[in-house]
Amino acid sequence: MGFFDLQDILDKSPAGCASCRRHRSCLSPKMTSVEGQGNKGLMILHEHPSEEEDETGSPFTGKNTACLETLFADLGIDMEEDCFHIYAAACGTKKPDNEQLRAHYPTVASAIKRVKPKVILALGDSFRSILFSNYKGAIKDFNRWRGFPVPLLDLNCWMVATFNPKFADEHWDDLYTTLLKQDLKTVVKCLETPLPEPVNTDDIEIVSNSGRAVELLEKLLKRQVPIAFDYETSGLKPQRKGHWIQCASFSPWPGNRSFCFRLGKHPDEKVLSKWCQVLGASKIGKVAHNVSFEDMWSRVVLKQRVAGWIGDTILLAHIEDNRSGIVSLKFQSFLRFGIHGYEKEIKPFIEAEYPNDFNKVDKAPQKALMSYCGMDSLLTMRLFARFRQLGLV
Ligand code: SF4
Repeated sequence: MGFFDLQDILDKSPAGCASCRRHRSCLSPKMTSVEGQGNKGLMILHEHPSEEEDETGSPFTGKNTACLETLFADLGIDMEEDCFHIYAAACGTKKPDNEQLRAHYPTVASAIKRVKPKVILALGDSFRSILFSNYKGAIKDFNRWRGFPVPLLDLNCWMVATFNPKFADEHWDDLYTTLLKQDLKTVVKCLETPLPEPVNTDDIEIVSNSGRAVELLEKLLKRQVPIAFDYETSGLKPQRKGHWIQCASFSPWPGNRSFCFRLGKHPDEKVLSKWCQVLGASKIGKVAHNVSFEDMWSRVVLKQRVAGWIGDTILLAHIEDNRSGIVSLKFQSFLRFGIHGYEKEIKPFIEAEYPNDFNKVDKAPQKALMSYCGMDSLLTMRLFARFRQLGLV
């Protein structure tokens, strides 16, 4: 059953079939847009029609679907009744390139809007079409995404990317079988799991006067709860003369709030002294995302040793999953909390051409910089809380 008029959507799309041209080199162009009843809210995004599907003109009847059917049946999912099916590229039997995925995306977007899936299971490279169109940033390779339940807050659903089952079938060995089954279990679990709450920027307090900063730090010294903290600095390596810490933020356990205060080239003496007391207090557990950075800047610029380190969320992320390219705070925040893109405004000011250069942190809009810094420590503490829940610390 066709769900809506694919041609109508593509005619209105700026790129559409004229730029994609896949319909010119296949037997069954523009295969039906969405099939299935989708009772459980699972949308399966197939990469493209298979050769058999193209030859017969019957969508979603090839080996991929058959393999999935068997595996999903074991998990209590019926492919026809419980799922919607759609192609990331609706014609042609070769892998679509990025431009073709982009050209066809309006159909996928319309389907998502209409059927409101709880979970999108993206097969093969089809995950790219979702990420290209909604989440600019480093997509890199498939392995970076495979199997993770990614909360897509803008689309109000989860996405899990996995192999084309046909690929796993052709290379049928213990590893692929195990991974594929594991990914499908993740999909089923997501159907019952609410999306994470979006982070509210009201949870970040930008502390604009030194009296309030001292008050907060004194409270922290009395309460002695663990904190995650973060610096925005004038460069990467503090050893070069003239470097400074522009602002610092901390988020007390369990990460409901964070506070960011200014240090700058000439920090307020009272604020600096209280902050150094906090850093030196071994009873206040410290967490950072890449401990060596905050530790080194504290030692070199503030001349203060940090006592009480209890966690490094970059290492914990690596322990949880040792794939490359997944441990940065930005990637982890997207993966675990669906938060992305909050660095955009600040990025040009905190990057320098060479590791020893000065950046332009002092030229950044200071409110935006402090909000960014506060977000970093808040997300670090939330990651730490998650790792504790998982029993990794
Ligand atoms: S894949 Fe989509 S955009 Fe490309 S030619 Fe076919 S229907 Fe048109």
